[in-house]
Amino acid sequence: MMICNKIARAGCLFFLSIGGTHLLKWWHRKQAIILLYHGISSAKAHLAPELFEKQLQYLKKQYTIISLEQFMNCQQSATAFPCNSLIITFDDGYHNNYTHAFPLLTKQNIPASIFLTTALISTRKLLWFDEYHLHAENLLHTRGYVTLSLRGRTHTLRTQAHLDEFKEELKTATRKQVRAVIDQLAHATKKNSDKTFVQNHRMLTHAQIKHMTAHHISCYPHGHTHAILATLSDKQLAQEILKSLAFAQKNKLDTSCYAYANGRIKDFDDRATTLLAKNGVRIALTTIPGWNALDTEPYAIKRISMGKTEDWNSFLIRMHFGLFL
Ligand SMILES: [Zn+2]
Repeated sequence: MMICNKIARAGCLFFLSIGGTHLLKWWHRKQAIILLYHGISSAKAHLAPELFEKQLQYLKKQYTIISLEQFMNCQQSATAFPCNSLIITFDDGYHNNYTHAFPLLTKQNIPASIFLTTALISTRKLLWFDEYHLHAENLLHTRGYVTLSLRGRTHTLRTQAHLDEFKEELKTATRKQVRAVIDQLAHATKKNSDKTFVQNHRMLTHAQIKHMTAHHISCYPHGHTHAILATLSDKQLAQEILKSLAFAQKNKLDTSCYAYANGRIKDFDDRATTLLAKNGVRIALTTIPGWNALDTEPYAIKRISMGKTEDWNSFLIRMHFGLFL
């Protein structure tokens, strides 16, 4: 697999170097590409601000950057997207979207949209997966292994790759099971906070949202607690979506768009799309990779997830081929 990836990567880069960029852009000229970013900070799981700035400079030269609202209007009125349209989005609502991304977007006059985990706004609480990483990585460094129990089975995790794999397994667990795992970790580390980690992973405040939406940033709901919709009961699913929409309405934010937590095809279902449509949401964004056409299913809009501290060539391959090599 590694060798296949290396060969594919070399092939992609060679193709781009002989003019492939122009050909691929021509091929996708009538479609819109929506990029998905998360945190912009020096944290391991985020994209460094200096790389983000370099990417913005490139994107501005290569694409017509439009807002998500423009994208939605084109789709709904069946009006062609501007040639090589690109939309910038951020999921989760990290505080650093305001401190690091917003000034860089403003400097280049680029519109963007942020999807908020509404229950965590103006708190110092972390997203469940950030809390998991904080405690599990702490334990791994101090003790060399992490022991966890999930659904009656005990797991011993000894490497960062094990931690990442176990996080994927947690995505299929119920909220109660996830909470129980994080509590086990928090109890074992006996360390409730790490100032730098919390600073990098905390969420936006109401005032920051207000300031950004008065400029060129739109904020939309991304669920209330970042629970994965497909794992929820009907009642929990309704609460997760409706509380998030209620937060947006109360704070005078636009509720015409929604981004599913985690966003893979298996993470949402018809119950979610029906409820969203019934409550006035016009499009919902996924993490399914790809480009969007005017007739792409509005409740399954595709996005290209942007990497963390990736090198420039990986970025180019991701932008032009939608591949993670
Ligand atoms: Zn998210």
